[in-house]
Amino acid sequence: MFQTFQKRIYHLLLPTFAIASVYYATAKLGQYLAIPPGFITPVYPPSGIAVAMLLLWGYHISGGIWLGAFVASTWPLWANSGNLLMAIAAGLGIALGSLLQAVVGYTLIRRLIGSSAFFSNAPNVAKFTSIEIFSCMISPTFGCTAMLWTGFIQPADYAHSWLTFWLGDVAGVLIVAPLLLVWTDRWKNRAQRGWQPNTNYRPIWQPVIEIGVWLLLLALVGVVAFGYGYPVEYLLIPLLVWAAFRFGQRFITVAVLLVCMVAIAGAIRGTSSFNRDSLNESLLLLQAFVGAITVTTLILSAVIIEREQANTRLALVNEELEAKVEERTTALRLSKEAAEVANHAKSEFLANMSHELRTPLNGILGYVQVMRRSNNLGDRDQKGLDIIQQCGTHLLTLINDILDLSKIEAQKMEMYPSDLHFLAFLQSVVEICGIHAERKGLTFSYNLDPHLPIGVHIDEKRLRQVLINLLSNAIKFTDHGQVTFNVQLVSHSEVAGSALNTIRFEIRDTGIGISPDQLEKIFLPFEQVGESARKAEGTGLGLAITQKIIHLMGGTLQVKSQLDQGSTFFFELTLPTAAEWSKPINLKSQQAIAGFVGEPRTILIIDDKWENRSVITGLLEPLGFRVIEAENGQTGLAKVLETKPDIIITDLMMPIMDGFTLMDQLRQSTELCEIAIVASSASVFESDQHKSLDAGADEFLAKPVQSEQLLILLQKWLNLEWIYAKPHPPVISATSTEKILTSELQTLIPPSLEELTQLYDLAMQGRIKALRNRAETLEQLDKQLIPFARKLKKLAQSFQIEEIQEFLKGYLDMKSA
Ligand code: ADP
Repeated sequence: MFQTFQKRIYHLLLPTFAIASVYYATAKLGQYLAIPPGFITPVYPPSGIAVAMLLLWGYHISGGIWLGAFVASTWPLWANSGNLLMAIAAGLGIALGSLLQAVVGYTLIRRLIGSSAFFSNAPNVAKFTSIEIFSCMISPTFGCTAMLWTGFIQPADYAHSWLTFWLGDVAGVLIVAPLLLVWTDRWKNRAQRGWQPNTNYRPIWQPVIEIGVWLLLLALVGVVAFGYGYPVEYLLIPLLVWAAFRFGQRFITVAVLLVCMVAIAGAIRGTSSFNRDSLNESLLLLQAFVGAITVTTLILSAVIIEREQANTRLALVNEELEAKVEERTTALRLSKEAAEVANHAKSEFLANMSHELRTPLNGILGYVQVMRRSNNLGDRDQKGLDIIQQCGTHLLTLINDILDLSKIEAQKMEMYPSDLHFLAFLQSVVEICGIHAERKGLTFSYNLDPHLPIGVHIDEKRLRQVLINLLSNAIKFTDHGQVTFNVQLVSHSEVAGSALNTIRFEIRDTGIGISPDQLEKIFLPFEQVGESARKAEGTGLGLAITQKIIHLMGGTLQVKSQLDQGSTFFFELTLPTAAEWSKPINLKSQQAIAGFVGEPRTILIIDDKWENRSVITGLLEPLGFRVIEAENGQTGLAKVLETKPDIIITDLMMPIMDGFTLMDQLRQSTELCEIAIVASSASVFESDQHKSLDAGADEFLAKPVQSEQLLILLQKWLNLEWIYAKPHPPVISATSTEKILTSELQTLIPPSLEELTQLYDLAMQGRIKALRNRAETLEQLDKQLIPFARKLKKLAQSFQIEEIQEFLKGYLDMKSA
């Protein structure tokens, strides 16, 4: 019981006395600030202390405020008048008014602003100020009325006493309450968070110097304005703005206090610029000044705090955004990597699958070629072989097309441009397609611009693929009429020392044509339009691939077509002129090779699959080659040492020792490094082909092996001169050109022997242009010579120099016979 009582005393009485003492002490201080001293205070600090203490600790300290206010008002009244009773009566009224004023202010602030952050934004500062201006009317009303009743003031003084009382309270609250609340807020925060080392280290001397300069300037302005009475108080405003921007709200509250103290000190000394004849006037001016700078500075610092908070929020949002962007980028990168892995897996699967399919096809297509060379086949067998070859080739095209398309889709198709004899290249394309057109009974004409460059830099394989695909389509989809192939030089320019040629390729047919709605679909993969009978011949991939390859080469494939009238496919490419071309070797495709001149040559074929070895053996042994076989690199190496072959044809992927290691070992040996090596593989990657050339191969031969290509390689590396067999009757194409030539020899009227000899000389020198000019002159010389001259001109226009030589030689032989 006694303990509870003691506790109560401890909890209630001690704080009450403590607060009353603080209140009394500050009231005493206020009296020292009175003008004249001991009279009316311009700033009454206890009113601010009362509000701040209520906001910090709540209603239960009300007793302390009342007691403090009572003692602080009664004591001076009693001391001044000597009438204790009246002093107590007036003191009771003043103390009641002071307490009521603090409680009303406190309640309204809690209601309208909340529990904290009274000065951290401009609306709260405005609310705080308004509430206090209003509630500070309570104490003057109670106080002045009590003093009037007790005779301490006269009715005539009531109004101005009330006014100075009120302004003193307002100024006291606005200066002291923010000071206490802002500083205690900082300590409260520290106590809650615990002490934390300052990680945001800034050199201490910098703010110290700045604050020092600030104080110096304040003193200067203070002395000039309030010491000498010059009206330069407005100079304090930039100082307060500076403080608000640089030193934060805590310093601001101190700065306001300092400025007010300087102003009041001036007023007390009577040297202030606010000093007027009447005391009331001086007091009011001072109070108005104090009130104005206090409110302005508080609002300014609140605005700055708001701005800083907004900046902090913005920085936070930025950080969050950055984190999100980072997160998304990582997610994107991961999904891209996953897609790349999937793509890689797809490419690898396709490559492996195609390798596996090409290997048996090598056997099938290879043996068809071996058997075709036999002279003992009947018509039915030949037909059977044709069908096997057609089906095999179709399958191979399909595999190649699917691979090309997947490579393009995976953006893995690479171009391998090289210097190319452009005219010879076009000639070979024309030759292949001409035979097909001829077989179908179509007229195949081609016009090669005489100004075309002889050599260009381009990926030969891909350009051939594009042209043969478009020309084959034209032939396939034309039943009557003609297919025309035009190659024109559109423009020629010199850029940075290299010559560029824009060349237009045009493939025109008089075939079935394509309707406008079908035109949109034909470039899509697996799209075939029109009659179903023709669809079986193709895969529907050709145009999709062609278009993409042309795109990779920097051109655009375009088409114009009319149903039942024909189609024209065309595109332009800009190709650099090349000088270092080597003329490709062409076999006389019409004639079968029966052997070669000179010593028998030894060929070592290294392949782990017996069927692959057997195809090459089957193709080459009948021609008189000595073929030795080995099933891997290691046995191959032993056989090289043993037999010293003239050329090695080796597979790349083999057990025990692969083709790459073998080539490496051969190229390092001083004895064997000169032997020509042909790498042969069913690998579909151009990179593998280039890798094999880097590893030391002289040539690459793709599987399934094409006999013609194999023979061209052997001719090149073994310097062979072929012996051709007599043409075999069922081979249609073999004799067609010759036939035309012999019939022409009889129908065309040639010029004189002398003219013929000159022409032949020009042809032997390869002077195409001179031959064309000569032909034109002949045309004009004699009407009879026109057919001969036209024929010569046509051959010259298409650069068929060998044909021209043969053509002229025929007439020379005829004339001289
Ligand atoms: P395909 O392997 O069927 O020839 P392509 O992709 O090369 O596949 O062609 C797609 C389709 O476009 C063909 O099936 C055909 O219907 C049409 N087409 C292509 N070229 C021609 C042409 N010269 N004349 C008429 N139709 C053509």
